[in-house]
Amino acid sequence: MAGRLGGKTALVTGGSRGIGAGIARRLAAEGADVAITYAGNKQAADGVVAAITGAGVKGRAIQADAASPDAVRAAVAEAAETLGGLDILVHNAGVAEMAPVTQATEESYRRLFGVNVDGVFVGTVAAVPHLRDGGRILIIGSVSADTSFGTDAIYSATKAAVAGLARGWARDLGPRGILVNVVQPGPIHTDLNPQDGEFAKQLTPRTAVGRYGTVEEVAALTAFLASDEASYITGTTIDIDGGFRI
Ligand code: NDP
Repeated sequence: MAGRLGGKTALVTGGSRGIGAGIARRLAAEGADVAITYAGNKQAADGVVAAITGAGVKGRAIQADAASPDAVRAAVAEAAETLGGLDILVHNAGVAEMAPVTQATEESYRRLFGVNVDGVFVGTVAAVPHLRDGGRILIIGSVSADTSFGTDAIYSATKAAVAGLARGWARDLGPRGILVNVVQPGPIHTDLNPQDGEFAKQLTPRTAVGRYGTVEEVAALTAFLASDEASYITGTTIDIDGGFRI
């Protein structure tokens, strides 16, 4: 497996914990130099960079709030400069807040769209000039884009929005061989959604396999999509959800 991404460079947003950390470690294990962004948890980010460099490749942690266009643009520029251009951009940074429409707030709506959608839009626009032909843009969406368990309308809308962006960008960038896809996880055990949390009582029984997924499982799919083996996949969403949505 080692070397499948040898010589490639990658930026993973929200790479300090959870799914993003798993993806960053996996891309590094497959040979890519990897920069990550994080919101505030420097210690966790430094730990992931230690794992990346421990794999024998370059690593870099960059503090950048995905909801801040200036910070996102600066992070993309720093990653491209440090690593020497970009081959793989993984938009993973994301936040979730659940509330029924009767309790929904405009503040929550703006926050979720700011991180989950604006960050993806601004980051992609900033990264495209640095992305080499044949590159990859991978977005961590959610099965929530296509289904609902209630209280998730805003979150679902953000994840549906990025699927729309991905389809359009796949058309725009296809002529350069840049492939754009969305990985849509179901319930994955992370700080955001722990498998032993209250929410899990509602979500676990909805999976066909009766369990949460792991960050390593999501990372494996993401690394495949980043590799040459996925050379004819673009503009699509791929569920990784243990049968949550069937
Ligand atoms: P976690 O909360 O475990 O980790 C979130 C990561 O994103 C951390 O590295 C965090 O940085 C970073 N982050 C959070 N907010 C920002 C921000 N404003 N700017 C930059 N970075 C930020 O989340 P998960 O790993 O569970 O989720 C990752 C992605 O996967 C999200 O997009 C989420 O919507 C999606 N997803 C998750 C599912 C799940 O069940 N876990 C299911 C479906 C989709 P820091 O450490 O500094 O706080």
